[in-house]
Amino acid sequence: MAVQLYYPDQIENVWHQSQTGESYRLDIVEKLVRLKDTLSSDQKFQITTVTDTPIEVLRLVHTPEYVEALRTGQSPELANSSGLLWQPALPIAYANSAQCLMQAASTALQVGSAGVISSGGHHAVPGRGFGFNPVNELAIAAKHLLNTQKVSKLAIFDLDIHYANGTNTILHDEPRVLNIDIWNKTLPQWQPVEDTNTLKQVFIDSMDSYWAKLDEALKQLIDFEPEIILYHSGMDVFENDRTGGIFGFKESKIKEREEKVFDFSKKNKIPIVLVVGGGYAHHETPTSTEISLQQLVKLHTISFESLASLQS
Ligand SMILES: [Zn+2]
Repeated sequence: MAVQLYYPDQIENVWHQSQTGESYRLDIVEKLVRLKDTLSSDQKFQITTVTDTPIEVLRLVHTPEYVEALRTGQSPELANSSGLLWQPALPIAYANSAQCLMQAASTALQVGSAGVISSGGHHAVPGRGFGFNPVNELAIAAKHLLNTQKVSKLAIFDLDIHYANGTNTILHDEPRVLNIDIWNKTLPQWQPVEDTNTLKQVFIDSMDSYWAKLDEALKQLIDFEPEIILYHSGMDVFENDRTGGIFGFKESKIKEREEKVFDFSKKNKIPIVLVVGGGYAHHETPTSTEISLQQLVKLHTISFESLASLQS
């Protein structure tokens, strides 16, 4: 059976503008478009494009003022707060993106696994976007799963290299979500929060500590017995990533990590949803130290291949 993937309609129409005025897609958008093209030619995957999501879904975690700013583009400071430029396609694409996670979770609960060619949005807080994340898709999906009683508890496993300020804030006092965030990079504007019984924020600074902490986190997942895992798979751990990178984190290590996580899900029979996390490229002026967009798409493809191998 093909792996079910979900892709947000209109994301390809979210454009950025260079200082000289030309339109282009930021790497975080462009990589999704390319990933969809790559994966759609592979019979292992069945891609559903999610369309026409009502913007109200964003209210599951975002404030009415912020949702209204996203809807209309008025209050430009709020509407542009993530760093993505507001344009009519933006709220449509990101409401669809949140819906992708909700649909993928439903599918995973039925068949064991599913994925989204879509972002997790872990920097967005209730009242604004941050870090090119206009909405927090992970938090929205978590709230949806709990509110609709599709599950009684779940886990978010965030292996993007950046601190998940948004998700950690939104779900801070939610004991039904085990939220594990293994991170190395942060920015001053991303407000940190304290750990709780169900929020484990794990700072790592080397390859060695990474694997030990990863094993520890997997043990915590077993103990919590989540009914589903939302897996935010960041490729920005890659050593040549533009914004992140851990020295020594090569492609082979990424493959190892993805296999470890998906094997864990299979072995413990916990449904899992693959969500595309960070991973950044200099696509205009690639240098030997900067990961190219092509490489980046290849890294994310490793995740999807690993997801597909779950079903074999
Ligand atoms: Zn990141």
